[in-house]
Amino acid sequence: MRRKNGVPLADVLSDLKRLYSPPKTFLDFRTPLDLLVAVILSAQCTDAMVNRITKETLYAKYRTCEDYLRVKPEELEQDIRRSGHYRSKTKYIQETCRLLLEKHGGEVPRTMEELVGLPGVGRKTASVVLSAAFGKNEGIAVDTHVQRLSQRLGLSTHHDPKKIELDLIEAAPRQNWRDVTVLLISHGRAICTARARKCGACVFKDRCPSSLVLGKPDLAKPKKAAKHDAGTRRA
Ligand code: SF4
Repeated sequence: MRRKNGVPLADVLSDLKRLYSPPKTFLDFRTPLDLLVAVILSAQCTDAMVNRITKETLYAKYRTCEDYLRVKPEELEQDIRRSGHYRSKTKYIQETCRLLLEKHGGEVPRTMEELVGLPGVGRKTASVVLSAAFGKNEGIAVDTHVQRLSQRLGLSTHHDPKKIELDLIEAAPRQNWRDVTVLLISHGRAICTARARKCGACVFKDRCPSSLVLGKPDLAKPKKAAKHDAGTRRA
């Protein structure tokens, strides 16, 4: 549910569209399988680091499911080591490739239901793959930026990404679902960062229910911390 004093999502999107021209996804890929692997790698890792790993190591060596299964887990682990959690990610990638070969002829499926049936693939990953690789808006990917900005701007009263996604889905027409993700991520990286809200430089500074300019608490923080934050800092 949107907060009563929240900024309407339609206004958020139209203002952010004037500021940013983000790509379909921030992860570099050639094929749907590349993207699926890149999104698995992006858990607890920056998109910039994933793009370095895929460019410098992965894409030169692996293109198909067979390629990922041809190597021993230890080899793939070393290839993706810089992404962190490399043992579990290697397991997910190889199990996913095995399943893709068994059930989908080695191709990445094009439905949410089939994608979330793959190991290590949740709604966020599936939404990114469907929208960026297949042009299908089946959900809204809620990462940490989208989660934080949804709370700060009052687009949702919830903390749980699944519930935030439902609020965003209800507020935006389907054709805008991908924009919701990439525009909020762009603003979350440039201005409304996790560490410090740059409210003085923000297009929403006079309307946002978390605006430091208006002396508001950070709605993305637990209540006690937010109260202290609003009382001690101004943008
Ligand atoms: S006004 Fe501040 S808290 Fe609100 S969106 Fe802008 S930077 Fe974030």
